[in-house]
Amino acid sequence: MNPVVAALRTAASPRIRLSDLATQSCPCCRRKATSVSRYPAFVSKFFSGLLLAHCDNCGTGWVPIPNLDLDTYYEKHYAKEVRKDRLFEGKFYGPDNPVWSKEKHAVRDRAKRHADILHRIAPNAQDVLDIGCGEGYLLHNINVPRKFALESDENVQGILQEEVGATMIGQLPEKPTFDVIVASHVVEHFTYDTVRDYMLGFIAALKPNGVVLIEVPPGAWQLEEFAAGNRPPNQRLEPHTLFFSSYAMNMMLLDSGFEIVQSIRCPWTKNHMNDFKIKKQVPENVYNDADYVFVGRKPAGQTVWPGLVRKLRALT
Ligand SMILES: [Zn+2]
Repeated sequence: MNPVVAALRTAASPRIRLSDLATQSCPCCRRKATSVSRYPAFVSKFFSGLLLAHCDNCGTGWVPIPNLDLDTYYEKHYAKEVRKDRLFEGKFYGPDNPVWSKEKHAVRDRAKRHADILHRIAPNAQDVLDIGCGEGYLLHNINVPRKFALESDENVQGILQEEVGATMIGQLPEKPTFDVIVASHVVEHFTYDTVRDYMLGFIAALKPNGVVLIEVPPGAWQLEEFAAGNRPPNQRLEPHTLFFSSYAMNMMLLDSGFEIVQSIRCPWTKNHMNDFKIKKQVPENVYNDADYVFVGRKPAGQTVWPGLVRKLRALT
């Protein structure tokens, strides 16, 4: 039998208590979940059986299972389900790697765009961390004194250390350490119950005036297209566990204490511009639709951890 058909037919489907679902809040705007749908699975036996919760206020979608066991997914399913390009056996950044002669290469070309943005926004950066950086295209592209990588894939550790010159770290430090943190196509892999802690972790690990650069897919719009039956048949969305609008991502950055210095308007946000709070969320001049990225800056004068402020506000 076609393995995709088999996966879709036999996927386990964990039950979610209605009472739990009804009390779940949107990770971005904190409103109650407004609806559920099936997960837009592609080939994954793990994801085929899941649901998505949706927030109509900000467009966010999330897998509403508490403590979702993604470790098992990445260990037991990911390698089989996601066909990775075979790693080049020579020097990855050597001239013989065919990656460099390809006319287009999504990850390589994206890293170049991010390097250009960082050159413009953080020209004097000394300490740069790339989270989930894969082979380290971005770190290889930039000329800074100290490069750090948070990347668990065993296949790329040698490339990152020997060819890119990166220092490997196992987790985010809790004190200000970096001028730049990059999270490119990483945040959509977090879960609804961890994403806010990661955002607070980013700001805690940045030096004053440090910047975070985030890129995520236009998830809220992808889900709108999915709901309408317009999803492209070759579109793979798993293993994404969060789906953002640019409005929702801006909100989460602002709520974590960042000033937004660059943003975009995703198609979902453009479709909701008649809502005044969405139109006026951040000043017009921070929008740059040429780059599909969000850049937040940690204010220089920020001395109190924003999570503490948020908790105190919640108490009063
Ligand atoms: Zn929301």
